[in-house]
Amino acid sequence: MDLLTRAYRIPLVDPFRGLRAREGLLLQGPAGWGEFSPFVEYGPALARWWAAAAREGAEGVWPEPRRSVIPVNVTVPAVTPERAHKIVTSSRCSTAKVKVAEGDDGARVEAVRDALGPAGKLRVDANGAWQVDEAEKAIRELDAYDLEYVEQPVASLEEMAALRKKVDVPLAADESVRRAEDPMRVARLEAADIVVLKVQPLGGVRRALDIAERAGLPAVVSSALETSVGISAGLALAAALEDLPYACGLATVSLLEGDVTGDPLVAEDGFIQARRPAVDEEALAPYVLEGRPAEAWDRRLAAALGPGA
Ligand SMILES: [Mg+2]
Repeated sequence: MDLLTRAYRIPLVDPFRGLRAREGLLLQGPAGWGEFSPFVEYGPALARWWAAAAREGAEGVWPEPRRSVIPVNVTVPAVTPERAHKIVTSSRCSTAKVKVAEGDDGARVEAVRDALGPAGKLRVDANGAWQVDEAEKAIRELDAYDLEYVEQPVASLEEMAALRKKVDVPLAADESVRRAEDPMRVARLEAADIVVLKVQPLGGVRRALDIAERAGLPAVVSSALETSVGISAGLALAAALEDLPYACGLATVSLLEGDVTGDPLVAEDGFIQARRPAVDEEALAPYVLEGRPAEAWDRRLAAALGPGA
């Protein structure tokens, strides 16, 4: 493979799940740009799917879109209620996803409900942090603010299935869906009502679309905290799904301090137009990695594409 690569490091506006910056590699090929940004702790066996998605972006063909405008939610990290309120108000989105199981969840969720108004949709994401009993109690309390669904309240699918029998709020599986066979397992165990699909961990837009069809559950497309290059692939998946009943978690470029294009894929009044912006050297310049850190990313990509991956 002979693709031009550019490594980047972009600080996050607020710390997100312990991260202060996002790093990755952008690949340019005949089809456009692809993004390879597995988290640092991921070895080649997991990163190979991320590499496949990046390669598809650079060299492949995405499936035919069924829609061109994608509804999206604003994402609220585990910040203070005041900051949460401001994030939601300034986003102008009518759906918000709030990180919970960290700090004063009730106050943060209350602030978000206040910012959204009664008609807005409010979902929470515990990133698998709760035990089943804890989750049951927390969901009952937080449902006072009318929850659309709860994303990954507990870690395992078995726990999800147990919890699902105890609460009425729909559950969405996110971290439980990382490999191709996972959505089918979710459906078989009746562990969730919704699956969260991310293009990079599932190996590309076409593969994620195929997985969604086989799982037969409503899907929400989310980002892996990517630049607009990765987000464009998520939008392509959301555009190609047969049904898109929920707002997608693709409005995450605003969690980054900057972007790699002059045409960032940010939400306007709760929607993003599916498109593929080109990487723009001027936008990339403050965030570009060169020398050893860039070489390390090239080596990570080579390892993820290699025969041992
Ligand atoms: Mg999640």
